[in-house]
Amino acid sequence: MARVLVIEDEKRVAAAVRRGLEASGFAVDVALDGNEGLWMASERDFDVIVLDVMLPGVNGYRVCEQLRDAGNWTPILMLTAKNGEYDEAEALDTGADDFLRKPFSYVVLTARLRALLRRGARERPTVIEVAGLRLDPASRRVWRDETEVVLTSREFSVLEFLLRRAGEVVTKTEILEAVWDYEFEGDPNNVEVYVKRLRRKIDQPFGTTTITTIRGAGYRVEGRP
Ligand code: CA
Repeated sequence: MARVLVIEDEKRVAAAVRRGLEASGFAVDVALDGNEGLWMASERDFDVIVLDVMLPGVNGYRVCEQLRDAGNWTPILMLTAKNGEYDEAEALDTGADDFLRKPFSYVVLTARLRALLRRGARERPTVIEVAGLRLDPASRRVWRDETEVVLTSREFSVLEFLLRRAGEVVTKTEILEAVWDYEFEGDPNNVEVYVKRLRRKIDQPFGTTTITTIRGAGYRVEGRP
């Protein structure tokens, strides 16, 4: 029997989710705020975690980040609000495996949880080191030698893609498809804007050249991942 931790502060929703999941054969524990959730997740092993974004005190993003930082890679399904106030991309960026928008049906919730269970816990992604940069995909932080470079979420994604393909020429289209996903209209100028911003942060202050422009083709990071 799969054991689920539900972290949700609205008692009525938490109780309903518990009933729904128990009826589908899950064993369910409920935490009513972020701190309690963090504590419960550290006290015992769960097969999957259902995590509400809007929680008093420590919100869902921070709970997710703290679990990942602590090396807990239990699959997390994040519940996001319908009004779009919270960005679903951010849910995935903080280390969640999937998200579900409220209100949801138990059929969909159960199906999503089963899919996560089949996939199993992820390995903590390994740190990428290339061209004097160190990039940690788990915490989404970047350092040039010992100096941390603060990047926005999208800048980070562009850099991660380039570093993973270090030594190869990467086209703007490939970057667009990898980083902007389906919602993107497809303007390669956006890639140029982001590469320019990255150079201002990872290269110019350090007098280095990490990202080379290959005229008519795209970009290349020198080195090997
Ligand atoms: Ca809530």
